[in-house]
Amino acid sequence: MPMLDKVLIANRGEIALRVLRACQTMGIKTVAVHSTADRNLKHVGMADEAICIGPAPSAQSYLNIPAIIAAAEVTDASAIHPGYGFLSENADFAEQVEQSGFVFVGPPADVIRMMGDKVEAIKAMKAAGVPCVPGSDGPLDDDVERSMRIAREIGYPVLIKAAGGGGGRGMRDVHTEAHLGNAIATTRAEARAAFGNDTVYMEKFLENPRHVEIQVLADGQGHAIHLCERDCSMQRRHQKVVEEAPAPGITPEMRAGIGKICTDACLRIGYRGAGTFEFLFQDGRFYFIEMNTRIQVEHPVTEMITGVDLVREQLLIAGGQPLSIRQEDIIPRGHAIECRINAEDPDTFMPSPGTVKRFEAPGGPGVRIDTHLYDGYRIPPNYDSMIGKLIVHGVDRKTAIARMRTALSETVIEGVKTNLPLQQRIMGDSGFKHGGRNIHYLEKRIREQKEKAIGLGNP
Ligand code: ADP
Repeated sequence: MPMLDKVLIANRGEIALRVLRACQTMGIKTVAVHSTADRNLKHVGMADEAICIGPAPSAQSYLNIPAIIAAAEVTDASAIHPGYGFLSENADFAEQVEQSGFVFVGPPADVIRMMGDKVEAIKAMKAAGVPCVPGSDGPLDDDVERSMRIAREIGYPVLIKAAGGGGGRGMRDVHTEAHLGNAIATTRAEARAAFGNDTVYMEKFLENPRHVEIQVLADGQGHAIHLCERDCSMQRRHQKVVEEAPAPGITPEMRAGIGKICTDACLRIGYRGAGTFEFLFQDGRFYFIEMNTRIQVEHPVTEMITGVDLVREQLLIAGGQPLSIRQEDIIPRGHAIECRINAEDPDTFMPSPGTVKRFEAPGGPGVRIDTHLYDGYRIPPNYDSMIGKLIVHGVDRKTAIARMRTALSETVIEGVKTNLPLQQRIMGDSGFKHGGRNIHYLEKRIREQKEKAIGLGNP
């Protein structure tokens, strides 16, 4: 199959720029699509062609399937890269892209569909030998007595999760039987409203796990490799704030073991492209929670330790190339950390859109910044508050943290509030420095600092 010659980037912001950069270095032409609020996006000015696909609200632009496919037709693009978020895990979109004669840069639509339903995903993963969180083994019905029996068997606390959930939403932990019925009903109602799918299931609520995930690449031609793990335990409201690779305390043997389980599963489910197996890791054991069938926000930390350009690999695979990297070529070097930069109040977390009066990027050895910011750029209020990612690499974790602290202090963003002060606090936190903290740690620390600031609790 020939290489892709023109790629339409169905996304915005830093990831659109990231995809454009990969295309340019590969000699692939690019088409940017944007909303009326995004005419000034950096990658729009850099793309070979740019098309406005609708007004600011995402539903009418970045989620507007007919408009995006029409843009691909008008510009004669050969493929569509969905980035992350928006339509990236929408199986109907992938299907329509392919049916319209374009290459979808991602796995086959039926695999996206299966992984998009967490109940189905868990079923498939179990069958493929992937260790999962003890749970209901399928959807919960309206028989509360039956759900109570399942919960008793699993043992409290349990977590009620929406099969179609995402972005950290659609889950509720239950600590006593008295609250179970209500929690199921509420989660179901919320899931129906938010995801248009009211299927819910039950999992054991793990009380002190870390979030450890495995990056994979598969070519759909019988080859799959893993590219080590990332630790994304620093979370707020189930959303990642800091990510790193490799994960503290994961030995080469553990990595090889879980990595092989993931690549075997890829071959079994017919996976193609870049993907991530997300696990909770507690007491030395991995528990699968979901698979992301797209490039992830935190992919750069993996790129920094492996030297592999993951977006380039996605494009090569989509162009029909067999994987040229073998498992033995993947040798992790040093340690990488990513801090997400959000335009938000560092204390209240309220979004802070507006005009960036001054932007100065950090530099130096091992420093990478993925952002679409520039002096005078206006951050529209319509989209996610993430405006960039700061990534550093060092020979070891300690060096990486030190580099991150310098890089954070060098970064200047004036005109809007950002979470840079929070990131600086995390890098200076003794628990974080120690490594291997669980998914509840950051929220606990934020709560403690707030209480301290308003004179509550003991310092
Ligand atoms: P989403 O698709 O919304 O990101 P995930 O299933 O990936 O949902 O879970 C997101 C986060 O929620 C995890 O990283 C973890 O912090 C928490 N979580 C999910 N499942 C469990 C569980 N069984 N026990 C404890 N925490 C969980």
